[in-house]
Amino acid sequence: MRRKLAAGNWKMNGTRADLSVLGDLAGAATEDGPEVLICPPATLLHPAATQALGTGIVIGAQTCHEAASGAYTGDISAPMVADAGATHVILGHSERREGYGETNADVANKVRAAWAADLTAIVCVGESLEDREGGTALAVISEQLAYSLPNGATGQRLVVAYEPIWAIGTGKVPSTAQIAEVHDALRAQLGDRFGAATGAAVRLLYGGSVKPDNAAEIFATSNVDGALVGGASLTAADFTPIIAAL
Ligand code: PGA
Repeated sequence: MRRKLAAGNWKMNGTRADLSVLGDLAGAATEDGPEVLICPPATLLHPAATQALGTGIVIGAQTCHEAASGAYTGDISAPMVADAGATHVILGHSERREGYGETNADVANKVRAAWAADLTAIVCVGESLEDREGGTALAVISEQLAYSLPNGATGQRLVVAYEPIWAIGTGKVPSTAQIAEVHDALRAQLGDRFGAATGAAVRLLYGGSVKPDNAAEIFATSNVDGALVGGASLTAADFTPIIAAL
């Protein structure tokens, strides 16, 4: 059985005062319930991890550099993320791919670095509106998954998030049939690469305009093991019902 995962991606939002959300969510993270992950900006990783101790909530970063240390002004490495108390890192988010030119090969290098630091990598894939309308969505996603995972990947410490770019922050959501088609294809591809048992153990998240009022329908969809939630993870009022729907 795959444990459900409710992951919040705070993006470039939040200062220390906003960590009160963790306290408000603490009751929602139960041992038998879904895993609850909050990915705050890097400045909040350590205070968030400290505050989350004993609540069951786990903390993740939103990216990391592929090197462990060095002359990379402004970057943070996977060992630094782990040292801050985080256990997960989102890699290959479309906002990183688009805004920072991260290629599949870059993402694969970061994933390798994350695993070397014992972090769980949440690898994001997803098509543009042009890909969707042109009928190439599945091909694009399959290529992203194939090349965003490094050679030698075992399928351990891996979560895959399907995030159609056109659904992020737009209020637009694919139909459940479209989500199922992609998630079933991702599951099959993971099985081909890692073997059926390992491929079946990787959690697949949907992300893009998940809200309290559409969460239950999305979570009832084939091979959806949780969500990567942006805007609706910023307040406990929105995120709590999403966790409860899992
Ligand atoms: P959204 O963002 O929930 O605000 O659409 C999702 C994401 O980018 O992870």
